Amino acid sequence: MLESDHDARWGEGCGVFGIFGHPDAARLTYYGLFALQHRGQESAGIATSDRGEIRHLKGMGLVADVFTPDNLSRLPGNIAIGHVRYSTTGRSLIENAQPLVVRYRGGMLAVAHNGNLTNALQMRQELAARGAVFQTTTDTEMVAHLAARYAGADGHKDVVAAIRRAFQDVQGAYAMVLMTEDRLIGVRDPHGIRPLSLGRLGDAWVLASESCAFDAIGAEMVRDVAPGEMVVVDRAGLHSLAVAPAARPALCLFEFVYLARPDSNLAGVNVHMARKALGRRLARDWPVEADLVAGVPDSGIAAAAGYAEEAGIPYEVALVKNRYIGRTFIQPTESDRLEALHVKLNALRKVVDGKRVVLVDDSIVRGVTSRHTVRLLRAAGAQEVHLRISSAPYRWPCFYGIDTSRASELVAVGHSIREIEQMVEADSVRYLSVEAMAEAVGLPLSSLCHACFSGEYPVPVDPAQAKEVFEYH
Ligand code: AMP
Repeated sequence: MLESDHDARWGEGCGVFGIFGHPDAARLTYYGLFALQHRGQESAGIATSDRGEIRHLKGMGLVADVFTPDNLSRLPGNIAIGHVRYSTTGRSLIENAQPLVVRYRGGMLAVAHNGNLTNALQMRQELAARGAVFQTTTDTEMVAHLAARYAGADGHKDVVAAIRRAFQDVQGAYAMVLMTEDRLIGVRDPHGIRPLSLGRLGDAWVLASESCAFDAIGAEMVRDVAPGEMVVVDRAGLHSLAVAPAARPALCLFEFVYLARPDSNLAGVNVHMARKALGRRLARDWPVEADLVAGVPDSGIAAAAGYAEEAGIPYEVALVKNRYIGRTFIQPTESDRLEALHVKLNALRKVVDGKRVVLVDDSIVRGVTSRHTVRLLRAAGAQEVHLRISSAPYRWPCFYGIDTSRASELVAVGHSIREIEQMVEADSVRYLSVEAMAEAVGLPLSSLCHACFSGEYPVPVDPAQAKEVFEYH
């Protein structure tokens, strides 16, 4: 995937982190966020609680750009939460960076969210009608407002009860970490669409979007937060409450395909092993005579290794990606198109010249990356290029935190395989089925969200948001 495209059109699920009971809470949160950087590069923030005072610092850019030893030292306390953001709702503004910190009648509350609330628009209108004033354009603020409103209202003197009540009003996908002056709270939506795990570091408790953040700080994975569960950590220890009646579990299948880091385990499945298994299944379902198998860096590498292993065809490095392209890279103008410059990605002529290549990638969204990589290989002398995709055709926009292109831009919408082959200029293109994907990952299809592939949305989507989808299907 090319970063410039990425920046222009997508928001990934964000990353959240939280820790309770460690004197170095801010610094450990920094390392945790650093491990979750792949989940969002737009802004980063940390809030800490120290003797009844919540402080926070957030900024635009990467974790390492926002925090310094000096500013981290100004975040004392032994409870902290953190967030890395790639905007899914709300524009790219510093006001929308998280954690969001609010003051209410009973005290202070900090909130960090990964996911997307599907009834945010409607809730916002209702709250605004009652006089609520919003600081941000994010759906996360809704939860803070609701919690603040319930706290202090009759029957909800206890802030935990108020927060729990607030979650009864929201719908959609959320993995949230919240912090009061003396508590760390983690909540996962009733379907568990976005991941959230619980870990331990000595006596401290840790929450993170992905278990790779536990490894980063030397913490141990305890378990996933269950769908619909709210874990509350205070001085007395960990308490588990239900926020909503259990619904069908629906962990995002795309986490395994692309979003999560290979060294994370989700629902007990290692992401790298899942990607390799997807590649192996692809080789069984869609074999082809070829001289070598290559992956599109970085997203297709694991599946390509699995494909090569299963097919008994040598795995090769056919494409090299320049790792140093970041936000500061001077983007080419239309006249010197980046594809033509081969700055970000280049093909290895020595490897592919005269060869029949199986090119593996994890997904095709708009088809731009695929066409570009196929062209690169042909220009370097490849005789045939067979594209193998380790997921099903991506046909339906995500309303749960991955802000993909509009339906009209998804190449698999309204095009046959033959047409897609022509559009990406490959000799053949083959995908996995969702059933094959679930089998390869090793989780029941009925326990996964596969809406982007099947159009079966586990949580009803606001008709205003869904309008565009139905226009194209
Ligand atoms: P496209 O050019 O739109 O077909 O892009 C497909 C490429 O983007 C694949 O190589 C994927 O690895 C990558 N990709 C898929 N989903 C996302 C996402 N949500 N954010 C960033 N990159 C993605």
